[in-house]
Amino acid sequence: MLVTTVLAFVGLFLLGSLTLAVIPNQMALLSTTVYLHRTLTHCSLKMSSIVELCSKFSIWMTTGIDRRRWAALHRKHHAHVDEVEDPHSPRWYGFWQIQLGNVFRYRDGVREPGLLETYAKDIRPDWLDKHLFHHPFLGLGTGITILLVLGFLLNRNGFAIDVHNFWANGLIGSGMGLTGALLHAVGYVFLQSSSVNGLCHTPHWLGYQHTDERQAQTTFNNAIVALFTGGEGLHHNHHWKERSARFARTKLELLVDQGWWIIWTLKQLGLVRDVKTVPLLN
Ligand SMILES: [Zn+2]
Ligand SMILES: [Zn+2]
Repeated sequence: MLVTTVLAFVGLFLLGSLTLAVIPNQMALLSTTVYLHRTLTHCSLKMSSIVELCSKFSIWMTTGIDRRRWAALHRKHHAHVDEVEDPHSPRWYGFWQIQLGNVFRYRDGVREPGLLETYAKDIRPDWLDKHLFHHPFLGLGTGITILLVLGFLLNRNGFAIDVHNFWANGLIGSGMGLTGALLHAVGYVFLQSSSVNGLCHTPHWLGYQHTDERQAQTTFNNAIVALFTGGEGLHHNHHWKERSARFARTKLELLVDQGWWIIWTLKQLGLVRDVKTVPLLN
């Protein structure tokens, strides 16, 4: 009886935590692919100032990433795909070094002198960057606090787990919020982002290509990675035409290019413009 109760508690706790993890994780992934990657780094579209501001807040609270450094390092990656200068190539560092240690390659890469001057001269820090977005721990702290409050509100009346005490229920809810934040961080850093730089730059049985043109030769599409990264797993397509805001090249690939759905919807609402694409394959 006791074992069943404990197992039910742990199961419900993990279910609640996973549900809360989805919120920051989706915010982080979609703002990474739509704003950081397709808009800021590759200038594939232009955003209205309100959408750009929301994207900046989303990145700040869910990842703490400095947008200029991210864009600069990614431009360097495109300038030296899988060459010795590539900051995170599995060809040079080994697959597992990138798949599990990509965060350390990123940390070292963004510290290299001259990176911003060479690759991000056009991205100027504005007032909000200097006073708010350049403080990653403030952003992450804000994001985690929101998740704690959401967890507290979710379970204050025993919505997920009821221990017949208002404060105990709230505490359990906050614990779910904190676990949710942790699950998001592990997923984003060690699974989702790193799969794009690791798995999608390594030949594997689920990886496929549409062309052997030089700029995309060493990269692979992986539909499962795409499904969990807002479309980023269509990485071979992206390296083939890096200025295209749509990563999908076939109708089937559209199913996993969620970043493109967001851009398409924003375009219909008049919130983005100058969207560059290449035609879909027949
Ligand atoms: Zn790449
Ligand atoms: Zn790119």
